[in-house]
Amino acid sequence: MAKKSIYKVVILGSGPAGLTAAVYASRANLEPLVIEGGGGGDPTDVPGGQLMLTSDVDNYPGFPEGILGPELMERLHKQAERFGSEFAAGAIEAADLTQRPFRLRLDRDEILAETLIVATGATARWLGLPEELEFRTKIGGVSACATCDGFFYRGKEVLVVGGGDTAMEEATFLTKFASKVTLVHRRADFRASRIMLDRARQNPKIEWRVNAVVERILGDAASGFQGVRVRDTLSGALTDIAAGGLFMAIGHEPNTRLFRGQLDMDENGYLSTRDGTTATNVAGVFAAGDVADHRYRQAITAAGSGCMAAIDAERHLSHG
Ligand code: NAP
Repeated sequence: MAKKSIYKVVILGSGPAGLTAAVYASRANLEPLVIEGGGGGDPTDVPGGQLMLTSDVDNYPGFPEGILGPELMERLHKQAERFGSEFAAGAIEAADLTQRPFRLRLDRDEILAETLIVATGATARWLGLPEELEFRTKIGGVSACATCDGFFYRGKEVLVVGGGDTAMEEATFLTKFASKVTLVHRRADFRASRIMLDRARQNPKIEWRVNAVVERILGDAASGFQGVRVRDTLSGALTDIAAGGLFMAIGHEPNTRLFRGQLDMDENGYLSTRDGTTATNVAGVFAAGDVADHRYRQAITAAGSGCMAAIDAERHLSHG
């Protein structure tokens, strides 16, 4: 629960963008409130953002040996706390940006914010098959996070769907546990970067199934996950692939539902910012991290834009 009813800065989200904004805003004596997010009913929706679902982070500057994603987030959290950031658990259920101060609803509390930094990130995308949710939540065998769930597939054959860097990363990571990883991709060309694709191609435990889309998940509550039926996009042929697990790695959706009709977004729902700043179309509302970035999507770029958002909020408060 929030301690005050009105804040100079409220930050939504506790990934690298939100926490870096908190470090900067608290060091500027703005006593920000960070609403940590998570708990949205999806097992991968957790405070701390996507790095909580990542193992080794090798490319965050300043950690020559690499660092575990959750450890990096714990350190950032402590750094934000050190300068007086306040934290509240949960996620905002409603936001009214038409009034000043802005009004936010968290459980039964109303929180008033003079400025708002939206750093709510993005969430893993799913195929949208009718049976998918039941396998994900009840039956098991379907996941969007190899680093969270890979351990449970020791010695099994698994499938990864996708052709981007995440798919390459997840497939490569899963070979540490699985006896075989089959990568299923809907085209023969890959969106993944050369280096990640080559690393996966050199891995003898990874098999490739291109020009294939998953038509349905095989199995039921009694027999558990059994595999998938894929359709060859060139021939139309249907094939069943037996497996012990299925990992989706088909991209992400920005978490902007609350702001539809209030903040400008692109056609995919990513928040639009102005003139190389973090300013949105509503004065006093700033966007940082993956929620406004479909291009770079890195922890370090999210952290950088969190810093920018805090500076933009501070300037807005001092100059209007
Ligand atoms: P992405 O680049 O958007 O790739 C998504 C992949 O999923 C694409 O291959 C896409 O196929 C496929 N896909 C999307 N919807 C699908 C559907 N309904 N059915 C079947 N396939 C579908 O997403 P990402 O791999 O998560 O990467 C996101 C960003 O993070 C990228 O900028 C990436 O470079 C970055 N990243 C970097 C690292 C790293 O450097 N360590 C690791 C992970 C991610 P099409 O190609 O046919 O559209």
